[in-house]
Amino acid sequence: MIKKLAITGGTHGNEYTGVYLVKKWKLKPELITRSNFETICLHTNEQAIKEVRRYIDHDLNRSFGSVDLKNETLETHEAKLAKHLNAHLGPKGSEETNVDFIVDLHTTTANMGLSIVVSNDSVLTWKAIAYLCQVEPLLRVYRWQGDEEGSFVDSMSPHGFAIEVGAVPQGVLRADLFLQTEALIYHLLDFFEKYNNSETFTFSNRLEIYDHEILVDYPRDKEGDITAMVHQERQDKDFLALKTGDPLFLTLSGDVFRYEGETLYALFINEAAYYEKGFAMCLARKKYITIET
Ligand SMILES: [Zn+2]
Repeated sequence: MIKKLAITGGTHGNEYTGVYLVKKWKLKPELITRSNFETICLHTNEQAIKEVRRYIDHDLNRSFGSVDLKNETLETHEAKLAKHLNAHLGPKGSEETNVDFIVDLHTTTANMGLSIVVSNDSVLTWKAIAYLCQVEPLLRVYRWQGDEEGSFVDSMSPHGFAIEVGAVPQGVLRADLFLQTEALIYHLLDFFEKYNNSETFTFSNRLEIYDHEILVDYPRDKEGDITAMVHQERQDKDFLALKTGDPLFLTLSGDVFRYEGETLYALFINEAAYYEKGFAMCLARKKYITIET
């Protein structure tokens, strides 16, 4: 039984789909109201939204590590914000969190379509994902296990994930992706209403996912400047196989860097926000997992 769910938007202030969906639902809360649990929606980084920036001091969606949340000496905007949000929605790791499930809304400049980024391994989280994959066959699931401990916004609650949609530029609204994200949220809320009513689900327990393997950085010079761009044949090919010999990067002088390694799947290809993080794409392994139904 879940009692309270939070939909968060504007964790990155320049990702407008979530920002404007939350604005819409604040005006029409009946759209996210279901009969047997409470749903709240909120902007997580108001200042970044106001300034149409990803963040003020550092990435809010990497600010929920348990050690950082307990560190009273951290004075950055996002560190203080994370503590405030954790008191409101968490506290992370406690037996009695204020919300049971967090769905955090993001967009990407990469051609990710409609996707879920999940680092939570709770049975309920995966049940919800399996349900969504059944009602929305275009939905793809990327499991992020690159950190020892999740420090994402959704890690404050025992269950949850992030939604990533793209491609859309930063600070831009695209109606098609807006509507797809909105529909997915309504399906998620419907799932919890059924779950709370102990309805039986008939979805498959075999789920196709993309499991994180490697972060690939751009070729760089000694100063750290990139010396190549994503190759034109790799651009927009998110969730497609990357095989040995496939072109990966194109240098300014026209040289081609080719991929060498086992066949993996490239995601978040050429995401604008990741230039500073030091990666050009993520490589994932496509696999099937069995979930409890
Ligand atoms: Zn984001």
